[in-house]
Amino acid sequence: MDLIRAIRLLSRLSLLIALSLASLAQSAPPAKHTKSAADCAKNPFAYDNGPVGQQTWCGVCNNAAERHYQAPINIPEGTPDPALPAIKFTGYDQPTSPLKTTLENPYNLKIYTPAGSNSIEVPGLGSYTLDEFHFHRPSEEAVSNHRYAMVIHFVHKKAGCTTGQCAVVIGVLVEEGQPAEKTSEALKVLFQRFPPPASIAGPPVELEGLLPGDYHNSGYYTYLGSLTTPPCSENIAFYILKTPVKFSAAELAEFARRYPSPNARDIQELNGRPVRNR
Ligand SMILES: [Zn+2]
Repeated sequence: MDLIRAIRLLSRLSLLIALSLASLAQSAPPAKHTKSAADCAKNPFAYDNGPVGQQTWCGVCNNAAERHYQAPINIPEGTPDPALPAIKFTGYDQPTSPLKTTLENPYNLKIYTPAGSNSIEVPGLGSYTLDEFHFHRPSEEAVSNHRYAMVIHFVHKKAGCTTGQCAVVIGVLVEEGQPAEKTSEALKVLFQRFPPPASIAGPPVELEGLLPGDYHNSGYYTYLGSLTTPPCSENIAFYILKTPVKFSAAELAEFARRYPSPNARDIQELNGRPVRNR
């Protein structure tokens, strides 16, 4: 082979390689589909409309093909359904410790509880144990277009569950008013931990103080929704208790002082899902 033929052959080969690389790049899926739910959950995100704001959240959050029943929603008043059962709470009237705080999500005041310390029984769905609870300001859920001062989400999980409704969120709306003694006691302990350094410590808390007085036989709104932070995974059962818990103006101001940035996701479309109430 003379030199000129060799050069021609080499240049054809490099053209072929360049063409096949280009077609590979075109057929590669878009970046958002390659990110796992776990990686998505670690992405920095914000609640505003900036470069990492709500419109850019990864996972299911903004994926038109995968999102069906997202949360939060505006809850319509509706008519109570007498067939809906009461939720049974266990362990909430006992001291819970140790409590674990993390720095995973700088907006959410998130506290992990020890395995099995608190649980709920939802007739028809089964038993779920409390994994963590956290606060949103203002409330994420609206009831008849009204958002409350705050909401507490108690996230319960079913052991060994892989399909169906593996998580139940009990939502407790917060309004300004004269708090129960137990409420202020619980908040006093929690304020010692907020904002966290990541830690497992501190005095126990009776989580009953963060529930309304009628929680043993509470009315609620229930619907299917999603995580309200990335990756916004779906098939989570929400039970929003109808009776709000009361925090004093000073306690609400304390949350705002420690966590000045609002952390409520925008209201999502109902998409025809049923919302039942007890
Ligand atoms: Zn939440």
